[in-house]
Amino acid sequence: MHKDLQPIAVPLVAWFGQNKRELPWRQDKNPYHVWVSEIMLQQTRIEAVIEHYYAFMAALPTVESLAAVPEERLLKLWEGLGYYSRARNLKKAAQVIMETYGGNFPQEYAALVKLPGIGAYTAGAIASICFNEKVPAVDGNVLRVLARLQADRSNVLDPAVKKAAEALIHDILPDDAGDFNEGIMELGETVCLPNGLPLCDKCPLKNYCKAYRQNITAELPVRIKKTQRRLEEKTVFLFYSPQGELALNKRGDSGLLAGLYELPNVDSFLEENCIAARARQWGLEPLEITYLKDCKHIFTHIEWQMRCYTVRVKEKNESFDWCTAEALESDYALPTAFAKCLD
Ligand code: SF4
Repeated sequence: MHKDLQPIAVPLVAWFGQNKRELPWRQDKNPYHVWVSEIMLQQTRIEAVIEHYYAFMAALPTVESLAAVPEERLLKLWEGLGYYSRARNLKKAAQVIMETYGGNFPQEYAALVKLPGIGAYTAGAIASICFNEKVPAVDGNVLRVLARLQADRSNVLDPAVKKAAEALIHDILPDDAGDFNEGIMELGETVCLPNGLPLCDKCPLKNYCKAYRQNITAELPVRIKKTQRRLEEKTVFLFYSPQGELALNKRGDSGLLAGLYELPNVDSFLEENCIAARARQWGLEPLEITYLKDCKHIFTHIEWQMRCYTVRVKEKNESFDWCTAEALESDYALPTAFAKCLD
């Protein structure tokens, strides 16, 4: 199997040299730039990342500045990227780099993979792209390309399949390991597209591709999810003070969205005639209650179904923080799940 794929290295690296997209973190091989971009790109589209990346680098241009950033500021910079634990881990890792490595970015995979929030993929990407270490960096794009190249129907969501892919790439990596790894990821992102739509006519590897030869590219990769998402219903309250300020609550220090602001909410869908009573339990006197909308937000293992009500109250109280629209824009990091509930 490995022998079959050995010849892909040369055309892949050559194709990457001619076709790579100009991305801000590709302008140099600075490990700080590559690291932050890789963490941002986990589960976020590249177009959305570019804008956040520029703002992040303008605010925190060095590992040192990241290590010292106040948490609220960090979370504000991360707003819209989701999964805030990734931002917190960035800061923790920056602190380790400052304290343990004197501010010098570790150069080897073995050291990188021990940093908070850096797994095998990210360590492999940094080590190979920035320091040309011959280590694999296997993400979903690489798994898709490999499944198609080999016409392999294994479940790409199975960790054992990922391990096998890493071993395979390890065996066929050329000396320019960084270009190979970036090249196969770029191929997955721009040519060997997901959802049954690869652009095989533009592919530098089509002569080596079994799925293309067998005309089964649309059937691959096989993805079988083992975990079902848990559905949770919530009633979400947009309490407005007479001055037009919105009530926000700070979540507890553990669990989903820990330590972030939220719109006041309760589990389950309340009957509309119970909304006023619930507001009073928070010490608020409702003047006007309006059903706003239903919306949903999907986390990895949980789906929130949210029923939202706008409630104008007689006066604000100490149960919540009350913020103006401008402050919400500039000072508060409201998770996307709740931003969807806003009017
Ligand atoms: S030939 Fe098509 S299916 Fe095969 S690797 Fe290239 S783009 Fe993907």
